[in-house]
Amino acid sequence: MTSLDDVLRGRLAEIQEANLLRSLRVVNSPQQPHAIIRDRAVTNFSSNDYLGLANHPKLKQAAVQAIERFGVGSGASRLICGSLEPHHQLERTIAEFKATEGALVFSTGYATALGAITALISKEDIIVMDKLVHASIVDAARLSGARLRVFAHNDVHDLSGILKWCDRETKNGQILIVTESLFSMDGDCAPLAEIAALKEQHHAWLMVDEAHATGLFGRNRRGLVEQFGVSRAVDIQMGTLGKAIGSAGGFIAGSKWLIDYLVNRARSFIFSTAPPPAASAAAKAGFDIISSPEGEELLETLRTRIDQFSSSFQRPFGNRNSPIVPLIVGEETAALSLAEELLKKGFYVPAIRYPTVGRGKARLRFTFSAAHSESDLAELLAAMKVLKAEPSFVRESSAL
Ligand code: PMP
Repeated sequence: MTSLDDVLRGRLAEIQEANLLRSLRVVNSPQQPHAIIRDRAVTNFSSNDYLGLANHPKLKQAAVQAIERFGVGSGASRLICGSLEPHHQLERTIAEFKATEGALVFSTGYATALGAITALISKEDIIVMDKLVHASIVDAARLSGARLRVFAHNDVHDLSGILKWCDRETKNGQILIVTESLFSMDGDCAPLAEIAALKEQHHAWLMVDEAHATGLFGRNRRGLVEQFGVSRAVDIQMGTLGKAIGSAGGFIAGSKWLIDYLVNRARSFIFSTAPPPAASAAAKAGFDIISSPEGEELLETLRTRIDQFSSSFQRPFGNRNSPIVPLIVGEETAALSLAEELLKKGFYVPAIRYPTVGRGKARLRFTFSAAHSESDLAELLAAMKVLKAEPSFVRESSAL
């Protein structure tokens, strides 16, 4: 029999051969634009900390206070004895922020998708999802045992055709449509109004992952569901706490019935130790800032930075309000060497490769933060000019 290590050595050699090998970079500083990555001082354009809250004094203070009062570990799952006050406070805050009857917090966004979808959907049902939804949704959909159909990215005609097929196919089963609102690797947004209309027409359920939009869009910064005015049509709103909110964890917001049901049936919630109280307390502080005048100012700064970047290129690209901008290179090696060139100039922009994006769709993914300064952007733009690096045009399906 071949030893495990021999098999793995061979598999890793294959991954390396395809230029898809990944390794961890040690970051020796807080999450902020000026970071020490692999012992090198860089300006970081790769974080999802869009509002610069991950290292904000108020979040740190909330976490420290929670540690002083509740300790570090939660000790058990929420249903055993781990349901601490910071979790409940955070859930009340999220429900109020999203204007839903309730909310439920999970340890990560990944666990949120897994728990919610597998609790709600089973093999009699059909899940219809956008081709580019996050891996957590794909994995959850597979685990649910339901029949899966994928519609072309942001293509409502394709979705409509599939839903007609679903109507013929489902007997007693449900149809669940799942999409992201702001897509994590392309920065474009889903045509939520059209999707919501199709959902009503076909009596389907609708789940929207607002991981990258919560805190950034809509009058109350609830997300694109608010901006597109489709809150009533979205049955299951998903979010993460590790991006604009500045902490860690994930959540579902929705009706009281949805939350009560997930408490009883979402396996990644039931069979997992509750999030550390510090993470939940910090996330609550993150929502408090987002809802305050300071949050408004941070968002304004982020928008100014995005505008500074996008207005420097003649060719229009993607959504001009998105903090995520891809530069699609195609070849994995070409993406890696462009990332390396930028790194030599002191800018960390990661090369995103298969399986995070499709094969041959490797890219640099720029993300912007309210914590970036005007000169951070100016220096990046100067370096990109020297390298003749321009962001890609991403088909804009819905105006932001
Ligand atoms: N959904 C999307 C769209 C994401 O980008 C991510 C994180 N990359 C997740 C879900 C998972 O969230 P978390 O990192 O909190 O597990």
